Amino acid sequence: MKNCSSFEELLSSYVDNDLEDCDVLLVEEHLESCPHCVGLLKLYREISKSVADSKVSEPLGLNDRIMEKIKNPEVIQGSIKADTLVIFPKNYGWGTRWAEDKVWGIFKADQQTQQLWTLMQTTLEKHGLNTDIIYEDTNYPPPSTYQNIYHYQEYTQK
Ligand SMILES: [Zn+2]
Repeated sequence: MKNCSSFEELLSSYVDNDLEDCDVLLVEEHLESCPHCVGLLKLYREISKSVADSKVSEPLGLNDRIMEKIKNPEVIQGSIKADTLVIFPKNYGWGTRWAEDKVWGIFKADQQTQQLWTLMQTTLEKHGLNTDIIYEDTNYPPPSTYQNIYHYQEYTQK
């Protein structure tokens, strides 16, 4: 019996209708007994559909397209290349829907929330859809492809 990780590769080809008949049978048999891979298949189908709907010009294989999506989310969202990055505090689960939005859905907005809201609004006004917003993660420094990086620490005071 093959394990899930070997099916994960087959699954993307399965979504692309790119499998030999014997592999199709293998995949379908495995799917009957594996909710994990069924979930993965659903995800692949959604990604495949969202990629098909978007305006990515190159005909990439699904694996490449998934990697592309992970590396460049903005490529999928209408072929806009983001050049501006706003960095929010790590693990700061602020809703970002409005200035007084709650943090983690429970904590009241505070002074920092207001400052972040202002930072987000001014950046969006200035750079529009070229803006990506991420939460700081010291394990993953922001890619150097961004021309403008707005780090929350430079714009907020506790
Ligand atoms: Zn599985």
